[in-house]
Amino acid sequence: MQYDLHRGTAAQHDYAAELNEEQYAAVTTAARHALVIAGAGSGKTRTLTYRVAWLLEHGVPAWRILLLTFTNKAAREMLERVTQLTGAGAAQLWGGTFHSMANRLLRRHAERLGYRAGFTIFDSDDQKALMRALVKQHVGKVSKTDRFPKPELLLSLHSLAVNTGRDWVEVLKDEYAYLVKHEEVMAAIYRDYAARKLAQNAMDFDDLLVNLLRLLKEHTDIRSDLQERFLHVLVDEYQDTNTPQDEIIALLAGGEHSSLMAVGDDAQSIYSWRGADVRHILNFERAYADAELYRITTNYRSVPEILALSNAAIAQNENRIEKDLRPARRSQKFMPAVVPAPDNRTEAQFVARRIDELMDGGIPGKDIAVLYRAHFHSTDVQMELARAHIPFRITSGLRFFEQAHVKDVVAFLRLIANPRDEVAFRRIAATFPRVGEATAGKLWQGWLAAVEPWLAAHPECTRLAEPHGKVLEKIAVPAAARPSWGGFLALLDSLHPDTGELLPPEMVHAVHEYLIPYQRSAYENYEEREEDIAQLARTVGDEGDLDAFLAQVALLSEVDNDAAADDDCVTLSTIHQAKGLEWKYVFVIFLAEGQFPHRRVIEAGDVEGMEEETRLFYVAVTRAQDQLYLSFPRYNGRSYDVQYCPPSRFLTALPQELTEVWQLN
Ligand code: ATP
Ligand code: MG
Repeated sequence: MQYDLHRGTAAQHDYAAELNEEQYAAVTTAARHALVIAGAGSGKTRTLTYRVAWLLEHGVPAWRILLLTFTNKAAREMLERVTQLTGAGAAQLWGGTFHSMANRLLRRHAERLGYRAGFTIFDSDDQKALMRALVKQHVGKVSKTDRFPKPELLLSLHSLAVNTGRDWVEVLKDEYAYLVKHEEVMAAIYRDYAARKLAQNAMDFDDLLVNLLRLLKEHTDIRSDLQERFLHVLVDEYQDTNTPQDEIIALLAGGEHSSLMAVGDDAQSIYSWRGADVRHILNFERAYADAELYRITTNYRSVPEILALSNAAIAQNENRIEKDLRPARRSQKFMPAVVPAPDNRTEAQFVARRIDELMDGGIPGKDIAVLYRAHFHSTDVQMELARAHIPFRITSGLRFFEQAHVKDVVAFLRLIANPRDEVAFRRIAATFPRVGEATAGKLWQGWLAAVEPWLAAHPECTRLAEPHGKVLEKIAVPAAARPSWGGFLALLDSLHPDTGELLPPEMVHAVHEYLIPYQRSAYENYEEREEDIAQLARTVGDEGDLDAFLAQVALLSEVDNDAAADDDCVTLSTIHQAKGLEWKYVFVIFLAEGQFPHRRVIEAGDVEGMEEETRLFYVAVTRAQDQLYLSFPRYNGRSYDVQYCPPSRFLTALPQELTEVWQLN
């Protein structure tokens, strides 16, 4: 018997009943270019979800729809919703972040850009490792008294240029004038940086965008195919697109029959530090002459008291499109609370105490979030929650796959998948006892000298398909590395035995076993870290293919790291990562001048920067559905280093009648 998993209840929807008139108009539009611009919680994302359902019901095949969202998680949730709504298979729909889409397209076409099949994706750690090596190599050319920029700064300057679509020299002159004297050396380093990545067949995150853009611009056949294919391009959180993303959208949706719907809120643009530019949404009507504009004026998320506060919060900004929202929900007779605490410890105790009370009253942890501007603001709350045995998960901080011990394991898998991956090789060499950077460098040279000719002689292979011992038998292994070398090669061979490659989870286990002695000596809390490796094997469980697994590891963004989210867990998150999400009970902490807004913005008198801080505050308060707690410590720090903290200007600017002050006893 054939059983169709996806058929389900072929539900035709009563769109008019489940959407308000404004949303309905957008969902059913026939416009080729439509922009939905509306405040937080007005149902923009819901509109986009229903739009997908509506298109499917009206005969658009799922594979001809492209849905771009801010996180992979958001895309997944939307696809689930669509499947629920339509009962139809949305599985073929293309949905995800710009980076995941770029990865998918480049996997097919990277060779057109001079890469080889099976490229590696460098994360920030890999980038830093490479950049550090290049600075070391080049910096001999500048005098020792001139402070040369750190690898991190070189990377972020370059990234800002890429993401704002400018030449890096222009960014250097505009924003880093004090570094102009280093221009020549920097140019050489950037040139080498690009060349070394290409030689290693690797792309960093920015390359994914830039290369996709190049592919679309320079290869008309690919561009036309995609324009032909995607009849509908839908984009959420459009206010935070950067320049290459905006160009990619324009090209993909530039076909004769394609249409584009973008939704967003200019008041929630909070990623300018990553090159996002609110002008893309503001100029939409200019970019697309036939654009139709849709607005939604009702808020469905928050009780009226929270909505009133949100409207007042964003009113502090001058540059914005007026769009105060009306509440759809009824009051629950609870005013947003402003909570001054004597110090940060007490503030955290308050948060933990109140959460405990809510949970005792039957509220599940998943309905509660603690939000903050910077990851370190969460330290005290973490401690107090742990003390009170309240389970929580953190979406800020180091993401799972960036932790050193996890990266050690992944490095072996990367080297199997791409034997030209120098960064992975060096990471592995660093686990050999008594092998330092110089020896690792020599080893790498030997490795490469043996591997390149083998790959050249086997053009059909992207990885070694012969025992490593044999391929590498002639290389000179430095004395310090000799004791480790044989075991290392044996391990690599065991990962892809004659019978074909192991599955990625099996590889993880094998590498883990091999690394135990090293990791035991290298890391203090080894037991906890073992748990992580076990988790890694579990995470890769559903990825059969090594390339797919590695791409997934590299692309998982911080917000996606919630595989283990369960109903009991309270969420701790930076505001940036809370974008688009909602919780019944929201605590915003550290609302003190200098912390939020940030001291740097205050001291520089940076007007645009302050507007972005205000938007960030707006994003924070608009996450709350039922209750909102705004707290700050009057003093921050322990006995030896105490700062006095005045309340944030965001609090003092709020009309008094919109909040209730809670005095802590
Ligand atoms: P943000 O700006 O924060 O991304 P948004 O505009 O995307 O918010 P949604 O997340 O789509 O808003 O919707 C906010 C909440 O309101 C959701 O819980 C959604 O289900 C609900 N909602 C939206 N529209 C309606 C409606 N017409 N009827 C009932 N509930 C609605
Ligand atoms: Mg949304």
